[in-house]
Amino acid sequence: MNKIEGLFDAFLELIYPEKGICFICEEYDETVDERHICKRCFDELIFIKGNTCTICGKPLEIGYLPDRCPDCIKFKRYFEKVISPLEYTGLVKKVIYKYKYGRKAYMYKALGPILVQAFEESDIKDIDIIVPVPLHKSKIAYRGFNQSELLCRYISRKLNIPLDTKNFKRIKNTKFQNELNRIERVRNVRDAFKVVDNHVFKNKNILLVDDIYTTGATVDECSKTLLKSGANKVYVLTLATT
Ligand SMILES: [Zn+2]
Ligand SMILES: [Zn+2]
Repeated sequence: MNKIEGLFDAFLELIYPEKGICFICEEYDETVDERHICKRCFDELIFIKGNTCTICGKPLEIGYLPDRCPDCIKFKRYFEKVISPLEYTGLVKKVIYKYKYGRKAYMYKALGPILVQAFEESDIKDIDIIVPVPLHKSKIAYRGFNQSELLCRYISRKLNIPLDTKNFKRIKNTKFQNELNRIERVRNVRDAFKVVDNHVFKNKNILLVDDIYTTGATVDECSKTLLKSGANKVYVLTLATT
């Protein structure tokens, strides 16, 4: 950890809820453990179970036979596959919203362990470097932090895999993807990303981290840019999928 990160962590410790307070419902509960989530809230998070698409990780309908969802059959993906432990619905939706827009950066300590566990349970074994989906500098200035970068820092430390937050940039200040349809989403993020130094990712297997997977337009454009810069493979880890 460098000096700035150390200071930032120290700052987050200061604005932390007290011990025993659940990061989600913000109430005291004796079941709050090192995950910072009480049992009642944890049980409300919907983890994806059963058959999932082998590419994008979305749940497949019961009785659907192919191992890929209709979208992944139809569209070529630049990434290898997506790991996404949670369903983006109910409490999960509220939690991610609160984390991103509620200026509650410390929540990465509750969400990080969920990502670490999902990664460890996956079959991805050969990651060289972890990279967050970058935010445009104007959005970081507004929001105060990049939610994916904080999650990356947590995962990198726990899994002991190097992290890079400097070499992959968002150069276009894109519109919010949630207001757009699939075609507009693809267009919106086209050429939005840039690799600064091609040597850094050359022949590397990258784990790209984001909060939500919807149509995959953003992580696919990121993957395309990373592969063009010489990366070997790109895997994607997101908290939740729609
Ligand atoms: Zn709670
Ligand atoms: Zn799929």
